[in-house]
Amino acid sequence: MNAVVQCLCHTQPFAQYFVDERHNDHISPHSPQRGEVAEEFGAVVRALNSRLYKTMAIKDFKRTVGKYGPEFRGTDQHDAHEFLMNLADWLHNDLNQGQTRLPPMSEQNHSIGTPDHIAAQEVQTELNSRDRSVVRKLFYGLHRNVILCKTCNERSLTFEPFFVLTLSLPSNDRWTLKELLEHYYKESTIEYKCSRCNKMRECVRKMDIWELPPVLIIHLNRFEQQDYLMSKNPSFVDFPIELLQLSRFVVNNPKQSTLSHEYSLYGVCNHYGTIDGGHYTAFCSSPPASNNWHKYDDHEVYDLRSSNVKTAAAYVLFYQSISFGIRGA
Ligand SMILES: [Zn+2]
Repeated sequence: MNAVVQCLCHTQPFAQYFVDERHNDHISPHSPQRGEVAEEFGAVVRALNSRLYKTMAIKDFKRTVGKYGPEFRGTDQHDAHEFLMNLADWLHNDLNQGQTRLPPMSEQNHSIGTPDHIAAQEVQTELNSRDRSVVRKLFYGLHRNVILCKTCNERSLTFEPFFVLTLSLPSNDRWTLKELLEHYYKESTIEYKCSRCNKMRECVRKMDIWELPPVLIIHLNRFEQQDYLMSKNPSFVDFPIELLQLSRFVVNNPKQSTLSHEYSLYGVCNHYGTIDGGHYTAFCSSPPASNNWHKYDDHEVYDLRSSNVKTAAAYVLFYQSISFGIRGA
């Protein structure tokens, strides 16, 4: 929990939002958490930012988390990715400026010939009317999914928002992040009910990034079921610190935002040990990819050389687009 909170607190535009207390104006009266998570999280960010506390005073925050996520109570180590997903949801609910009482989103049914950027705009407009928060704005991107029928060439198009990219780690000693991303975005052949043929057909499915988020979080999924057993994959993943270039995964989109496709690393949440027991630390840099890295290990803080940032313990990576400034939120 501490490691994830540290990485989020080093997300400059996100932290600044809470430091400036802008969240006070955005508390949603409809949130199941009644704004409590946002308030307690804001208090943690401000405490860390004040530099009076090098370590974390997060007792109240932990109590609130335990109230809404009983699975995160106690002193056991909880899965950092799962905690991150929950925390992001709670914060989004607490800070959502969208209309929360709208019916569920209609199924996407873009008429033939609609240019992709028009279809994407329609989806974005509908998403924004429901979900609008600092969490959405900073951490959510948009995927384009295309399914092409091999028989009649019918093209089915959908757009999906994404938060964390969860990348599988096939067994191997060593991977590069680029290889894992290529694997994630590669074309696949699937059985799919083609709407024109009106029957199951062999189709080609391809997913691409339509819109990148200002902050991209990548989860290296080390805990996957293999042969009916959950185990930890200890592969070393070589990930870039200064420059993660994502252009090759982004659709060439005429209405693209001005956000750079180049990202710098500023946070790593590390997991040590096995699936049953384990320990987390955070490596954080401010500003991103600087020479100013620190290791946060529960209540201890250490200086860290940037050459020691990449280890086989890396579990969740936090990247920020190089064109995204601190005042962007
Ligand atoms: Zn077809």
